[in-house]
Amino acid sequence: MKQTIILGLDIAELTELAQEWGEPPFRARQIFESVYGQRLTSIDSIFTLPAKLRSRLNQSGVEVGAPLIEKKFVSSDGTVRYLIALSDGQTVETVWMPEGDDGETGDGTEAGESPTRARMSRATICVSSQVGCAVACRFCLTALLGVKRNLTAGEIVGQVCAVLNHQQVSPPNDRVNLVFMGMGEPFLNYDNFIKSVRLLKDGVGIPESRMTVSTAGIVPRIYDLGLEATRPKLAISLNASNDGLRTKLMPINRKWNLEKLIAAAKDFPLRPREKLTFEYVLLNGVNDSAVNAREVVELIRGLRAKVNLIALNPGPGIDFETPAPDKVLEFQKILIAADIPAFIRRPRGRDIYAACGQLKRTVEMSSAYCHASLTDGPR
Ligand code: SAH
Repeated sequence: MKQTIILGLDIAELTELAQEWGEPPFRARQIFESVYGQRLTSIDSIFTLPAKLRSRLNQSGVEVGAPLIEKKFVSSDGTVRYLIALSDGQTVETVWMPEGDDGETGDGTEAGESPTRARMSRATICVSSQVGCAVACRFCLTALLGVKRNLTAGEIVGQVCAVLNHQQVSPPNDRVNLVFMGMGEPFLNYDNFIKSVRLLKDGVGIPESRMTVSTAGIVPRIYDLGLEATRPKLAISLNASNDGLRTKLMPINRKWNLEKLIAAAKDFPLRPREKLTFEYVLLNGVNDSAVNAREVVELIRGLRAKVNLIALNPGPGIDFETPAPDKVLEFQKILIAADIPAFIRRPRGRDIYAACGQLKRTVEMSSAYCHASLTDGPR
């Protein structure tokens, strides 16, 4: 029997399906609202559809296709890491970070000030875009897994829905930020990633201004993103201050070097008040010196951008060390002195291995880890 998965389909595709079923076009809107808006996970629970239609759909192999939470790990800081099982048995990680914020709320107010909303209803979800990753960044645990496959748009949206359901949180009333900073390189799965963005905005109700996509620097897709009518904010994983160092840490730099990357960043059409983010993972004695900091200043001078500094989240198989906190502060000081906003990301969920790939890898070895250590530390 042919299987039809609903999650991941947009209104146009659902309308086509309704037509195939001999149903009126408004069924498409009902299904869209049920699986994305209400986040229902079975055809049987879509009560807006007539019972007869529900059983007909069940019999003909139509399924919502919601991924399942296979394991979860709760950190003492409130971070929850979910290992999510996909229909073919592959797993990815999705991380829930309560009160995590990217330092800016997207509406121009600073994180931490929310005059009208209760603080507890604020959180960040970190989603995966691929099973594993093909970009061989030397400090990243997901890289050690290699890439198994791309996620479908439905599997990306499904991670968010599973976590929202588990946390009993509903955007847009509850304020949820979304970062595409989990396992994988979103720009090597561009079409599914961008489709998921549209479904998450139009269906699930998360405004695009609350979403951030992070790339290792797939330059042509940075230009593509700039042309999208609906798009998240852009974060670029810089991680090194010159080409020699960046090529060593991120071999992808051979294909798109800093000149090309920074040119794309300069050309990126920012919305009013929007900033680019550069992420910089600090590796002890490797890329964390004052000279490195001054090189970063020269690289990004004149860009409307901020820098997020992340001290390495260590893990098995990673041959780098985490710098001491004063080293991180020193690096930050140099950026700030040059008028570049720089934030230190507080590590989240260390006790549960909350950086990307850590959960999946430790689960595979005996039992994973989002580096989206998203809460700003002291400036
Ligand atoms: N592939 C995308 C998104 C996933 S990685 C990208 O490269 O941007 C998300 C962020 O985590 C990146 O900025 C990456 O540099 C950072 N990161 C990877 N491994 C890390 C580690 N071990 N500790 C801290 N941050 C890490």
